[in-house]
Amino acid sequence: MTARNIDGKAFAAGLRARVAEGAAEVIAKAGRKPGLAVVLVGEDPASAVYVRSKGKATIAAGMESFEHRLPADTSQETLETLVDQLNADPAVDGILVQLPLPRHLDESAIITRIDPDKDVDGFHPVNAGRLATGLPGFVPCTPLGCLMLLRDVHGDLTGLDAVVIGRSNIVGKPMAQLLIGDSCTVTVAHSRTLDLPAVVKRADIVVAAVGRAGMVKPDWTKPGATLIDVGINRTEAGLVGDIDPACAEVAGAMTPVPGGVGPMTIAVLLRNTLVSAARREGVTLSQ
Ligand code: NDP
Repeated sequence: MTARNIDGKAFAAGLRARVAEGAAEVIAKAGRKPGLAVVLVGEDPASAVYVRSKGKATIAAGMESFEHRLPADTSQETLETLVDQLNADPAVDGILVQLPLPRHLDESAIITRIDPDKDVDGFHPVNAGRLATGLPGFVPCTPLGCLMLLRDVHGDLTGLDAVVIGRSNIVGKPMAQLLIGDSCTVTVAHSRTLDLPAVVKRADIVVAAVGRAGMVKPDWTKPGATLIDVGINRTEAGLVGDIDPACAEVAGAMTPVPGGVGPMTIAVLLRNTLVSAARREGVTLSQ
């Protein structure tokens, strides 16, 4: 058996096209484009690539992109002043501060400074609390993208046994909350989990968000399981995920790396920005 390939790239292209239609509705009804502000501090090459592709995708979806590039030695005060300005700017519906920030800056203070209703990354504690308590808010883009792919594969997730490997605030924890919301039975595994292979082996759904190349092995995999690979690991062989590609011989469906979860993250960011613009302008989107 070879697992069905979950084509995140194609799904993300469809989502971006729907966002572009929604953006046109906001423009028609509110007379302005939805706007996303992206703040990059310093010259980390990977972050610069992400920011560039976010800007391009924003413009391609018919939205306004505001890029703010600040030098690596920017002070906390300067960055906080910029966040305050963006919070107050009516043309800005979403604010994203690219992480990680240079070490001398207090990341958590910056994240909590962003207006929760413009926090399209969903990292503000208010949005984490909203997700945990089932209130509407912004959900982190990567786990929400994973949920969309899972719903596309399974339809209804009710009663499925899901294991999330990783407990970070940006992927593992919100992923677990989303799966609970869809009535899965959820286990969150991490570096202190005992007998991880046995925990993974009982899962109908595995979401791996660790950052260890090829960690999940075929003999950990329940036959027919759906495997979602969030991991991005740069190796000599190129970009690889946390799931050994040989798991495809056992799994029922699996995301590739690259071309699986990665493209979903930016598409969901655009979706969150559109939803913010529609809320702020009182526009009801047709989809
Ligand atoms: P973190 O480093 O914040 O978290 C990694 C998690 O993995 C931790 O909870 C850690 O456990 C756990 N872990 C580490 N080693 C093991 C182990 N041997 N067994 C089980 N669990 C382990 O990473 P992120 O959540 O930010 O990202 C995870 C991966 O996803 C990375 O590869 C990252 O590059 C990728 N990523 C991809 C995105 C995309 O768009 N595709 C977006 C975001 C991230 P503990 O808490 O105990 O330390």
